Amino acid sequence: MAKFLSIVLLRLNMVILSYLNPFSTEGEEIVREQGSLDDVFEINTDLLRIVMDSKSQNLSNDNYIPQNYADLAVKRLEWYLRKKYDKKYDHNDYAFLLNPNIAQFDVISFYIAAQAIAIKFNPNSRESRLMIECQGRLIEERLEKLPPINRKESLNGLLNQIVTQDNIKWTSLGPLLDSKKIKLTDVILDKGKVILEKDDFLTRFEDKIIGRVPEKMYDLLIGDKIKEMIISRMIMQYTENYLKKVHEMASTIEPHPALLEIGEQIAVKIKENMSYLSGPGGSGGFGGNIKATALQPNAFPPCIGKTIEGVGSGNRNDAIVLLLTSFASYARLYPSVFRNESTTKISDIDPDLKITLNEIIPLIFQAADNCNPPLFEDDPQEKLNVIAKLGFGVHKEPELKNEGESKWYTPMSCDKIKIHLSSLCKPDATCKKIGNPLSYYNRKTWELRNSGDNEDNAQTKESSEDAQT
Ligand code: SF4
Repeated sequence: MAKFLSIVLLRLNMVILSYLNPFSTEGEEIVREQGSLDDVFEINTDLLRIVMDSKSQNLSNDNYIPQNYADLAVKRLEWYLRKKYDKKYDHNDYAFLLNPNIAQFDVISFYIAAQAIAIKFNPNSRESRLMIECQGRLIEERLEKLPPINRKESLNGLLNQIVTQDNIKWTSLGPLLDSKKIKLTDVILDKGKVILEKDDFLTRFEDKIIGRVPEKMYDLLIGDKIKEMIISRMIMQYTENYLKKVHEMASTIEPHPALLEIGEQIAVKIKENMSYLSGPGGSGGFGGNIKATALQPNAFPPCIGKTIEGVGSGNRNDAIVLLLTSFASYARLYPSVFRNESTTKISDIDPDLKITLNEIIPLIFQAADNCNPPLFEDDPQEKLNVIAKLGFGVHKEPELKNEGESKWYTPMSCDKIKIHLSSLCKPDATCKKIGNPLSYYNRKTWELRNSGDNEDNAQTKESSEDAQT
């Protein structure tokens, strides 16, 4: 009986490991067994049974129930998007995602979603970032929901797979530090080693802790939460690496049609869930409060006014490429970026890029022309850098097919401008109340428009106060 129980627990732990880490040996084994993508759209009765048996799963609407692997791949992303953006999000619509019995289907659907995204989108795209974030969040929630006995065992099993548990050097966290998924201050270090285990912590620090119970200090400073953070960040990093690898391979290998179809479905789902950013006035969809309106030059802060008039050779490049490009694009399209969401791209608000091409780029290029000497005459490469800072990669003009090759940069803070572009910062009275040129613009726009208590004005003021970054 004892042997039977230990086999059951071992099996259970193996399943849980793949449920938490699709890159585990168990996860890879599951994918190898599945092999083909030909039946991913076929109704899968085993999957349906697990979904329907999931505790508290909402069964009132067929739309909540994944019927096959392809559905499950899309629903994983949908879960994350709705959790993030939808005020009406109901956990019970997706309870199946936190049912460990779904592990086998979940692992396969993870790889299907990752491949579909990597084929259709750039590794730096918003879609790739959502896939990575979704995986990190799922792991955190799944760990939270595990019974304590499975949780401890799973944590140790996962750490053993991911790092050499007894002896993690801080340098092995290099990729996580580089990609800012973790900060050095998040972990306890001693002689270059990351301390995770209680025994190790007590051996090293027990004598040095005065007036506190060392065990409690361990629970407070490290405990399971640091292990969980390292695990989820590491798996996010693996997911990122995997997306890059598949994206590279996709340029030489013809993708399976099922992956192209699923990539399309994921793109539609992401658009639907972020639709609050587009439409008249930028409202609609899941409760946005964004106002994309024509630029108001009389609300520009002094640093932007001076940049538009033209800048001398010392500061030209940074003023146009870094400061004005981000300021003009966000002020025109997404002034409340600091309040809302950073995984937005220009086409969410300007789907055909008409505003970008007809209003934003001409303003930036005119300012570049006003420089002394004109920026692009001297340095034509900077034209490409402007396009790159809008999120369209290094190309001559913004095109939807290239969006996501680079990041859409948010405006730099006043502190940074004062350091790097000090000659442009000539603060006026409004500057005392803000920390970023964009928040200056939002506040000033509100002041200029302030003609009563209408809701639009209140929203703009709210945005201005939030955008102090
Ligand atoms: S304080 Fe900020 S907004 Fe005002 S001029 Fe200086 S950099 Fe621009």
